[in-house]
Order: sequence, then C-alpha cells, then structure tokens
Amino acid sequence: MSLRPFLKSGSGISGEVLRQDKELSPKFEIPAIMKEHDNGPVLIFNKVRGSDFKVVSGLCGTRERIFRAIGADSHTYYSRIIGATNNPKPPKMVDDGPVMEGQERPDLRRLPVLTHYEKDPGPYITSGIVVARSPDGKFQNASMHRLLVLGKDRLTIRIVPRHLYALHQEAKRQGKDLQVAIVMGVHPAVLVGVNAGPRLGVDELGVANSLLGGNLKLVRCRHVDVKVPAEAEIVLEGLIKRDEVVEEGPFVDLTGTYDIVRKQPVVEITGMMRRRDPLFQAILPGGSEHKLLMGLPKEAKMFEGITKVVPEVRGVRLTLGGSCWFHAVVSIRKQADGDGKNALMAAFGSNPSVKHVVVVDEDIDIDDVNEVEWAIATRFQGDEDMIRIRKARGSTLDPSSDQEKILTTKIGLDATIPWNKPKEKFEKARMPGVK
Ligand code: MN
Repeated sequence: MSLRPFLKSGSGISGEVLRQDKELSPKFEIPAIMKEHDNGPVLIFNKVRGSDFKVVSGLCGTRERIFRAIGADSHTYYSRIIGATNNPKPPKMVDDGPVMEGQERPDLRRLPVLTHYEKDPGPYITSGIVVARSPDGKFQNASMHRLLVLGKDRLTIRIVPRHLYALHQEAKRQGKDLQVAIVMGVHPAVLVGVNAGPRLGVDELGVANSLLGGNLKLVRCRHVDVKVPAEAEIVLEGLIKRDEVVEEGPFVDLTGTYDIVRKQPVVEITGMMRRRDPLFQAILPGGSEHKLLMGLPKEAKMFEGITKVVPEVRGVRLTLGGSCWFHAVVSIRKQADGDGKNALMAAFGSNPSVKHVVVVDEDIDIDDVNEVEWAIATRFQGDEDMIRIRKARGSTLDPSSDQEKILTTKIGLDATIPWNKPKEKFEKARMPGVK
C-alpha cells in the first residue's frame, strides 16, 4: 500500500504518467512544468539538480485518480469518505518496512524541495503529513501542513488552529516540545484519509486504513514516539519547538494568491528514514491536487449535511474555479418547491468556508460550468431565488472578506425550475437521434 504500484504499468493509470528525463532545477523549473500539466498526468522528474532523489507530483491531480485510489466513483465517493471517517480502523503495527531501508543523518538540503512562486521566501515541503502523539499518550493525530525549509535541520510549520495546534499548545503547557514525524510519499488514499477531517481524538491514519481496506501498516519511528506508514517514501523525525517562532510566508494558498506572513513554530529535525531510491512527493500550491485534496472531503461532508434536509441529493461539487473551497454546486431532485432553498441553507451549514452556492435540478450536469450557468440564466430570478447572509463566518483564505474577523457575505442561488410556471418552459430541447 505504497504509492509505487500506482505508477507501474498496467495499474490503470500508467497511461497517465509522464516522465521527465531532462535535468531540471527544483527552483521554479519543476514547478513551471507542474503548472503546465495541472489537472493532467502524474509527473515524475527523474533528474533534479542538486539532489539524488526523484520528484513525483499529481498523484491526486484529477478527481478520477482520487476515486480510483479509494475504490469509488463520482457517485460513491461521498459514502466511501464518510464511511471511513465514521469507522476508522487501527492500522496493523509491523517491526520493519521499506521506509526503514535507509537511515541517515538528516540534511534537508539534500531533498529536492521545490521553490514554486516568485515571492516565495524559500523551498516549501507541500506533501508533508505531520503525525503527532497527544501529550497524554492517548491518540495519534495526522494532518497536512506546509513546511518552509530554513536550513540543514530546521523548518517552520504553518499550524492553523485545529488538532495539531491543540496538541502543540498542550505540550507547551507541560513545558515540552511536541514530537512529530513528517511523512512524505504515500498511497493517495492515505492523503484523502488524512484530509477527511474526523473529530479530535480520531487517528486520521485509521481513516486512511479504512479507505485502504485494512492494508495500511505502521512502524515505530526511531527518534520520536510516533507511528508512521511502513511504506512511506521519506519520514523526517523531529520536534515542534515549544518556545521558538519565526516568520512564515508569504505562501501561495488554494486561491493562487499569497497568504499573509505570520509568526509560526520552528521544527527541529532529529532523524530521517527513507526507502531506497525514494520518490519525493510534491504538491503544487494552488494546483488541482492541492484543491482536490482539500475540497473532496468537504464535498462528502456537504453531501451528508444536505441529505439530512432534502430527500434526494444527486451530487455536490466544489468547483476548481472556486478553488475547490468557496463555490459549491448542488444537484437535487426536488420534491417540493422550497427544497432548493433548504438545500442552500444546509450547504452553508455543513461547510463554513463556502461563500457562493448554486442549487440545480438533476437534469443539469454539475461538472459542466456552462450547464450550471445556463440553469442560472434560464431558471433563476434575483429577487425570488437568491438568499444573502451578511457577516457570516467565512474562510481566512478569501482576500475579499474581512480576514481579521473572518466575516464574509454568503450568497445562495436557487437555480432549480420554479414550480409556479409550466415545467415545459424549462425543458432542454432534444433532437431525435441525438443524445
Ligand atoms: Mn485530527
């Protein structure tokens, strides 16, 4: 259950792997090619200037590849993700694994860490899963964080106030540094599981194991009291310092704009394990892989939330144009004329980051932005079918909102067919013999 079988011929995605044999710089050159192929093939960079390691990116770069990784399709992935989130399985512990093939003194400068955008302060690790044990020893937590390389064995980590933040605060209260492992290069289902968002206290690696049908195995780290996937490509072991912060950023986030600079904790790296000839995984900030990994689990949560108030939800999409974060399209089969508006309210209620939602009938293809726009054009009236909520909690990522208070205005468009007019006025005209 590593990422490698995914890249082998006959895996189903082998036709989607593009190898680059030319030597390329990790500074701007590799990211430029990643951007050119965004939402496209998996990329493998065989020769990276200044490093012996190869770079892989785009494993989760399309919806279809993510679905294949978790054994689902565009209809079943909601229940796969929700099912795994609600039924995590503790992974099996093993004594040895491929990640232990190479043990060495850590030197972050030997890794092919990429510098992506013009104003980036330095190279950023973007695929790092940070695994930590709670200071009371009761559970492990796994979450993804961007990490800026500061030197040979130092990084700074952006920690949004969520689970890892709570563990770090608790460690600080006890006067301790927080022991962590930074895991890079895993099966795509592990990335989905880690981003699924179970409550605090539930190990995301258990969610990942559930998505992998119980096949995820863990080994114990050597330098820290943390368990990590045995088939990971690279694991850095270290400490999030209790008493040291430095400036982090500016970093390009989901929106493709620069996030603000903040004081963030320092991570000191004390050990490193890796596979033989490891693949360094890179995720392009603001690229489709970044957006889908953040957005897909949210779609599942929204699907679950809207299904509680509207009998038949056909699909939920957080669109790429909305950075897979701000814009949702929801397809329903109405049973009453008010279902459209109730779906809007449930959409906002199940994902606080969403800002604009469009609800459409089941005859609209929600993967086709032109069809969605057509539904707004022909089925929507601004005075009847729009709801507006001012000063609601939004996302810190939206530069147009009040980013200090995290307040935003939400707009919902009910673009379903109004039932007070004859239905045939809204029918898509068909041509005999044309699908
Ligand atoms: Mn957690």
